[in-house]
Amino acid sequence: MGGQQFASGAPLLDMTGLNRAVDLDHGRGLLTIEAGADWRQIVQATHELQPGGVRWAIRQKQTGADSLTLGGSISCNAHGRGLLMPPLVADIESVELVTPSGELKRVSREENAELFPLVVGGFGLFGVIAAATLRLTPRLKLRRLVDIIDLDDAVHAIWRRIDQGCLYGDFQYAIDPSDDSFLRRGVMACYEPVPDSTAIESADPGLPREAWLELLALAHHDQREAFRRYSLHYLASHGRIYWSDTMQLSTYIPTYGEFVAKSLPEGSWRPERSLMITELFVPPAELNAFMAAARGILRSTGVQDIYGTIRAIRKDSETILPWAREDYACVIFNLLTEHSEGGVERTRRACRMLIDAAADRGGSFYLTYHRWATREQLLRCHPKLPEFLALKRKHDPAGVLDSDWHRHLRRVLGSET
Ligand SMILES: Cc1cc2nc3c(=O)[nH]c(=O)nc-3n(C[C@H](O)[C@H](O)[C@H](O)COP(=O)(O)OP(=O)(O)OC[C@H]3O[C@@H](n4cnc5c(N)ncnc54)[C@H](O)[C@@H]3O)c2cc1C
Repeated sequence: MGGQQFASGAPLLDMTGLNRAVDLDHGRGLLTIEAGADWRQIVQATHELQPGGVRWAIRQKQTGADSLTLGGSISCNAHGRGLLMPPLVADIESVELVTPSGELKRVSREENAELFPLVVGGFGLFGVIAAATLRLTPRLKLRRLVDIIDLDDAVHAIWRRIDQGCLYGDFQYAIDPSDDSFLRRGVMACYEPVPDSTAIESADPGLPREAWLELLALAHHDQREAFRRYSLHYLASHGRIYWSDTMQLSTYIPTYGEFVAKSLPEGSWRPERSLMITELFVPPAELNAFMAAARGILRSTGVQDIYGTIRAIRKDSETILPWAREDYACVIFNLLTEHSEGGVERTRRACRMLIDAAADRGGSFYLTYHRWATREQLLRCHPKLPEFLALKRKHDPAGVLDSDWHRHLRRVLGSET
């Protein structure tokens, strides 16, 4: 995750003990909760604070993992699977911030307003978020609609789904580079609201842990079969009804790497490997051209993509360092990377080429997953970085809050900062 969490040689604040729900404003749908709470705890708090019936629920959270804290999510201005949603900043009413000089300040669009666009998406550099007030949304029942479809059609199909009222959705693409379907065919899953009276026949048990692990192993050595099985799993859930909040929770198995290594022929996991996540943003009209370029990049570098999705984001007009500078399609790649000099270099090269392919089409990249963007790429895709770093110096002149990523930025951007 790029090192923004850590500062070598410095104390680390672990916020996870600070996880109590403080208050739920039932009239306005505002949940105040301590910032070390993770998403399962946040969803649980909304349920416990509404014992008579859950009217208010979270709007969005990250996909793929739940043990990410509210403070960490605000600090990276995270996004979920909303089809028409800006990043998390739009869901934040206010935060309780401990500033670098040790003062406790309430920060919102009205109070200490100059800090709000810095703290949200500020990667922890402008203060420690002790608690936050999250804007909730009415809890809905949603019907999942699944299509196995080519990307060219999906770009139009997604608009039809939005017109039909769908609120969430994503496109999980095929990963076999030797096949024509590579980064082209995919599982498009969208979620449309249905009346509250619609019965949830039984909770979706989802894939059992063993099936997940098997799929992950297949994604490493038989990508075609992995996609076939995954598609069947999704198609079987077409038409199912979910609650809008619990539908967003997900399974993450931190030890999956060990399972995958054991499932492969002896010795073929040497040297060790793991996944490097990278996320690129492009204007929706450029998505097909970008994916064609990505196909070429991954095939020519030989870097294997183990899993990826495409989602939508609406422009963020509030933070100082917005990653969603426009309405974008967001493309995620999880690139298998050997822990060897050559392996890391291959993925680094692929990541840089992907950034150029996005930037050439008016797009950008997610700043902190890795530290491989060149100085030129950083400034081209995140032109406000020099201003961001200057404001960091202004608000924290003693450099109380620091990270390896921040040090890296200062080193790479040099005279600009
Ligand atoms: C499996 C997985 C899936 C993911 N999927 C998505 C996704 O779908 N969408 C998305 O947007 N992101 C996604 N991410 C990225 C994730 O949202 C960020 O890495 C997020 O910051 C992690 O939160 P954390 O609580 O682990 O924070 P950490 O990694 O601990 O910290 C992240 C940053 O937040 C700062 N920070 C943490 N807590 C506080 C606090 N209380 N006050 C001030 N600063 C703080 C840290 O200093 C650091 O800069 C994913 C990450 C993983 C591991």
